[in-house]
Amino acid sequence: MFSIEGMSEIYEDGDCLVIGAAATHEAIAESELVKRYAPILAEASLSVGSLQIRNHATIGGNIANASPAADTLAALTVLGASVVILRNGTEETLPLADVFAGPYRTNLGDRDLIVRVTFPKLAADVRHNFTKIGRRKALSISRMTIATLLATDSEGVVTKFDMTIGATFPKPVAFPDISAMLVGKKPGKEDIRAVAKALSDKIPEIAGIRASTRYKQPVCRKLSERILEELIGVE
Ligand SMILES: Cc1cc2nc3c(=O)[nH]c(=O)nc-3n(C[C@H](O)[C@H](O)[C@H](O)COP(=O)(O)OP(=O)(O)OC[C@H]3O[C@@H](n4cnc5c(N)ncnc54)[C@H](O)[C@@H]3O)c2cc1C
Repeated sequence: MFSIEGMSEIYEDGDCLVIGAAATHEAIAESELVKRYAPILAEASLSVGSLQIRNHATIGGNIANASPAADTLAALTVLGASVVILRNGTEETLPLADVFAGPYRTNLGDRDLIVRVTFPKLAADVRHNFTKIGRRKALSISRMTIATLLATDSEGVVTKFDMTIGATFPKPVAFPDISAMLVGKKPGKEDIRAVAKALSDKIPEIAGIRASTRYKQPVCRKLSERILEELIGVE
């Protein structure tokens, strides 16, 4: 069970990192444990609002608010996060995506409380990139985020790859089919281009053709190429 005090704690639980739902974005961004085991979440949390907002706003509130533009969601998606909910006096664990019914709507009942978020700790060799695009440099609501985790072995063969787009779909989505395009391969430029195209094609596939699609699709494609070239080390 949990205690209210424990709801803002960040701690290790075996192979997992646990973030109390009442942990603020600033506490998460500054946490040595998060920086070591989930640096992509530290960066995503640091990108939320201003220092004043980050010192007040919590990860539980970011999830429960269910804004498609919430900055922690793409990072939590590639981390494979689960959300622990206190429901009728019993704790239930849900995959992150199952918390959401749609934009600004969750599957939580009025008396359900998000208690904590948990995900597997990243190995030290996992590289990451969190990119946020907004209309201005500070205090910006995301137009799009891209979260990427990637690891290779000593031969340059990809051993782990997860990439998703935030602030674009009605709710967070993981893409195992995109992961499968690189895992087990030693990727070159053509593979990177194919992944960037497949990822950006998800935008009209899932969100439909919207006014923003003409902007978001090519931007996602170009940024994804750049991110992957940098993470893989392809010139
Ligand atoms: C000026 C400004 C700038 C912002 N900038 C950003 C930004 O850049 N990126 C971003 O992602 N968000 C941003 N936000 C949105 C917001 O601050 C975040 O979503 C934040 O994480 C909300 O956390 P909170 O603890 O304040 O939640 P609240 O606003 O207090 O609550 C939001 C909702 O969640 C429910 N809730 C809160 N905690 C729980 C829980 N543990 N269990 C169940 N339900 C819960 C509340 O009942 C309420 O319905 C901004 C907000 C403001 C006002």
